[in-house]
This record gives sequence, structure tokens and C-alpha cells, in this order.
Amino acid sequence: MANASFDDALPDALKFHAPSPLVDIGANLTHQSFHRDLDAVLDRACAANVTTLILTGTDLAHAEQAAALAERHSGLYATAGVHPHDASGWTPALARQMAALHDHPKVVAVGECGLDFNRNFSTPAEQVRAFEAQLALAAQSGLPLFLHERDAGPRMRDILNNWRDDIRQAVVHCFTADKDTLYGYLDLDVHIGLTGWLCDERRGHHLRPLVGDIPLNRLMVETDCPYLLPRNLPVKLKGRRHEPALLPWIVREIAHWRGISEAELAAATTRTAVDFFRLPAAHSQQATGDVHE
Ligand SMILES: [Zn+2]
Repeated sequence: MANASFDDALPDALKFHAPSPLVDIGANLTHQSFHRDLDAVLDRACAANVTTLILTGTDLAHAEQAAALAERHSGLYATAGVHPHDASGWTPALARQMAALHDHPKVVAVGECGLDFNRNFSTPAEQVRAFEAQLALAAQSGLPLFLHERDAGPRMRDILNNWRDDIRQAVVHCFTADKDTLYGYLDLDVHIGLTGWLCDERRGHHLRPLVGDIPLNRLMVETDCPYLLPRNLPVKLKGRRHEPALLPWIVREIAHWRGISEAELAAATTRTAVDFFRLPAAHSQQATGDVHE
């Protein structure tokens, strides 16, 4: 506890405890902001009853780090893919390295991959090429897809439609789009990941009436930490870094806008995530502690 005076303790008002174990399907724990206190972050997740974390692998280096972390801790799993921002760097050699990672026992999804026409850090053509290559890897491995989409709903839907029979399952993580886009995904039997975006009074309003339209067996929850700290937390958090221990707040918010209990939503999203990522059911009951074997 040498660092207890550091900013790694949550204020009491932010020490939540989910009514049943939660799965955070999108945690960027290989982000440098977690390097200094990762063990404390995992302990706090456990104390909040967020017992399973899917670490997002957004490029080769981060996917390898995420898989290595997942090896060392029970309750941690990883995805492996190339984010659309980095699509310009896609090569056949990278495809082979990704395919090898998809064989790793703790890598449970292909991604984060997809389309981001909001910022276009890679050109749309480069993004489509890398995305289709990763759809092929998902078809080959049988793993589900962890998808990112911003301002590219119609194109994403067309591509998914073409591939739908070849891929097992897909989740559009951090869904923030409109009703038509949501219904398009649901028609393709795609899952939806919700973050604390709907806690944002400036830009999350449109999502609130939509959360009731997502069937519970298609809905999962995520922090997308360290990004997207909920804007309506009961107290301000120094440093503005989001972390998995705060997921129960997002669950509470979604349950509120859906008009069901926090407990019902918590249990349903965990059941959905366990099925979707084919997690050992026991892990949803376990702590994110070290593996001692
Ligand atoms: Zn994303």
C-alpha cells in the first residue's frame, strides 16, 4: 500500500457494488494510464463485483499485451484485432500474426475492428480492406467479432450483411448511433455494447429511449475505459480516468432508462456476455485475482 496516497483510491461515493457479477466487455487496460497501478485497478473491479474483463486489443502490440495479461489473471480475457484508425498498416504478415493470436486460449474475439468515417485516420478504402480481412479471420477461427463503428452505419451494415452467414456473432461496441442504425444491426442478429455515453447530458440523450428496444439477450455493457468517464457520476473523479470498477454506475443508468431493476439488467448482460464470448460460466462468479496453480 506504499502508493495509497497516490490517486489510486476511489472516493467512497464511487465505490459501487453490482448486485450480481458483471462482465466489462471493453476495457483498454493496456493503455499507458493503467501501467502504474494495474493491480489496484483489478482489485477495485473485483470489489465492485465486476469479475470478468475483456481487454480490448486494438493493434498487434496491444493485443499481445492484452493476451499476456489475460494469461496471468483469471477472469481476464482479450480481443485481438486492428482498429480502423490503424487500418492503413494492414499487411498479409499482420494477418498471419493476428491469426496466431486468435488461437490463444484467452483470446475470445476478433477485433477491435470496423469502420470509423468520423475521423478517417486511415482512408475509407484502407478501412474496408482491413475490416474484410478481419471478417475472414473471424470466419476462419469461429470467434465472434468486436466491432467499432462511427459515422459508418450503412456501410458497416452492407458489409456485415454480405458476411453474416460466414461469421458466428458480432457485437457493435460503444453503440452511439441512431434508431435506424440500431434496427439495422438487430435485423442482422448483431449484439450491442453500451457504454457510459448515455450518461452524457450533451450527446447521449438520443440513446435513452432506444435502450428499451435492444433485447436483453443482445445487450452487453462496457466501460471502454480509460475513455468515456460517465459525466453524471455523483462526485468528480480526479484525473478523469475511467475504470472497470465504475461499470455498475453505467448498469444502473441503463436499467433506469429501460425501466427494469439494476439486478435484472446485471444478470441478463452477464448471461449474454458469457454466451457470446463462450466464457466458462464459473468465471462470472470468480474474482479477477492472480492465477495460483
Ligand atoms: Zn471503439
